[in-house]
Amino acid sequence: MTVRILDGRSVASHLWRELSERTALFVERHEAPPRLAILRFDADGPSALYATSVERAARGVGIGPLVITAPDGITETDLVARIGALNRDHGVSGIVVAQPLPEGVSLQEVTGAIDPAKDVDGATAENAGRLARGERAMVPATALAIMELLRRHDVPIAGRRAVVIGRSAVVGRPIAQLLLAADATVTVCHRQTRNLARETRRAEILVAAAGVPHLVRREMVSRSCTVLDAGINVTADGVVGDVDFEEVRHAAAAITPVPGGVGPVTTMMLLAQTMDAAERLAQASAADEALSRYDLPASREVVG
Ligand code: NAD
Repeated sequence: MTVRILDGRSVASHLWRELSERTALFVERHEAPPRLAILRFDADGPSALYATSVERAARGVGIGPLVITAPDGITETDLVARIGALNRDHGVSGIVVAQPLPEGVSLQEVTGAIDPAKDVDGATAENAGRLARGERAMVPATALAIMELLRRHDVPIAGRRAVVIGRSAVVGRPIAQLLLAADATVTVCHRQTRNLARETRRAEILVAAAGVPHLVRREMVSRSCTVLDAGINVTADGVVGDVDFEEVRHAAAAITPVPGGVGPVTTMMLLAQTMDAAERLAQASAADEALSRYDLPASREVVG
């Protein structure tokens, strides 16, 4: 049996075209593109690398990137204040904070300062809580990318056994919740899981998000399994995933490569959520304007 390669680059290029059309329509209606603020903390380190790749992709689809390089030694208080200013800026639709953060700065404090309506990488507790309750939420882009890969390749989810390796707030937990919301029967594995292979062999959908190069080997997957590899591990042999691609491609039904699988779709999903936010915020401000004509409270102030 030949394995099906779930190609992230082709999904990303479809999304690119769709997003370009959406942004063009937005500009036609609102006379300005949506803007995505990207906060970074170094000029040439990992946070700059991330910021540059998001900036390039945003520009490519017609979203205006606003890259802010925080000065060396910025304090948590200053950072929170900057995010507050971006929250109030009507021209900004989305805010994303590149990692790693400077030493001594708390990720929770910083992401917690983002307006949930502009939280396009699903980093706030409000969006995480909504997702956990099965409500509409902005979701970490990697988790959304995995769902998009499954959807675009017509992989059925409902009723199937899904196993997720990893329980972090950025990948493992949100993907487990999305799979659950899509009616899969979900098992979440982590460092304390006693017999990982026993769990993964039962999977019809396997998501690897452990950050361990080549953790998933041939004998750990079944013939019917669709394998999604979120891992990005920089090794002496280059960037590799959490799945041993060369081995597992001979054992599974379908698999994402690394690079070229989940990664390219992730950036597009971040931009898709930026567009969603821009459209929702534009609608809300149009509603506020309509209400102000009759001297009624703005929509976001109405409680109940
Ligand atoms: P993390 O270190 O925060 O979490 C790793 C999780 O994997 C933990 O829950 C841990 O318990 C589990 N784990 C680690 N070793 C394990 C083992 N041997 N057996 C079972 N479980 C194990 O990492 P993260 O931020 O969730 O990232 C995971 C991977 O995804 C990394 O390779 C990271 O680079 C990658 N990542 C990719 C994207 C993307 O866009 N594709 C985005 C974010 C992270």
